[in-house]
Amino acid sequence: MTSLPAQVSGQKKLGLVIDLDICVGCQACATSCKEWNTQGYSAPLNDRDAYGTSPEGTWLNRIHGYEVKGAEDEQSRIVHFPRSCLHCEEPACVTVCPTGASYKRAEDGIVLVNPETCIGCKLCSWACPYGAREYDYDHGVMKKCTLCVDRIYNENFAEEDRVPACVKACPTGARHFGDLGDAESKVSRLVAERQGYDLLPEMGYKPVNKYLPPRPRSSEKFTVAPTPSETKSDGKSRIEDFFRWADRLLSR
Ligand code: SF4
Ligand code: SF4
Ligand code: SF4
Repeated sequence: MTSLPAQVSGQKKLGLVIDLDICVGCQACATSCKEWNTQGYSAPLNDRDAYGTSPEGTWLNRIHGYEVKGAEDEQSRIVHFPRSCLHCEEPACVTVCPTGASYKRAEDGIVLVNPETCIGCKLCSWACPYGAREYDYDHGVMKKCTLCVDRIYNENFAEEDRVPACVKACPTGARHFGDLGDAESKVSRLVAERQGYDLLPEMGYKPVNKYLPPRPRSSEKFTVAPTPSETKSDGKSRIEDFFRWADRLLSR
């Protein structure tokens, strides 16, 4: 069994804040994570049958889409849900590890796996309630989000690039990175303003990463604009009618 570092008040807790209101499920974060980590700290991230009928592989970040509906008369919507390790404060994935391969860093709270001492027993993946552990069948070891530890401290990068690959790649700005142990940090203030929440708090793992909930939508019902008229009663050409129709539709 592996012990956790002693908790000190004011300790750095690096993590991600993910805005479910604006994530569009484009997978840019997942692919940039795969690309970066295939050549970096977690290298290589294996793929099996990549172009066949049953492709599978190791991904440290996966995006799921759910159709959700609130009130009876509310239109349903798709919520995209990115999932990676939450770098928990009380991670059983670490404490169940029989070799010490899984560990939590005292200096910044990042949870990592040492591939040299991982024996591939998978106890950590059974312990993790978030499905954040990824078994690498080619190498017989466990892999997981490293919070891009090899980017965020990399002095060869410009300051603004010292962020996780997924954060850098997100085209909508749905992903934020920072110190959630500092109540005054940008990420902590964002969590406070938007009522960011923990996933499965009842499990007691105290995830560091937070999710910002989707905001309620306007109650206005969406109706499709009338199609362009077949006649040219106002003297305008049919193509002008079409552009006016498309403009009305897209301005909603
Ligand atoms: S999300 Fe899972 S793998 Fe990551 S620290 Fe928490 S328990 Fe461990
Ligand atoms: S922080 Fe790095 S390793 Fe973790 S999901 Fe983002 S890109 Fe992948
Ligand atoms: S890159 Fe950003 S918008 Fe795209 S799936 Fe990831 S979090 Fe969502």
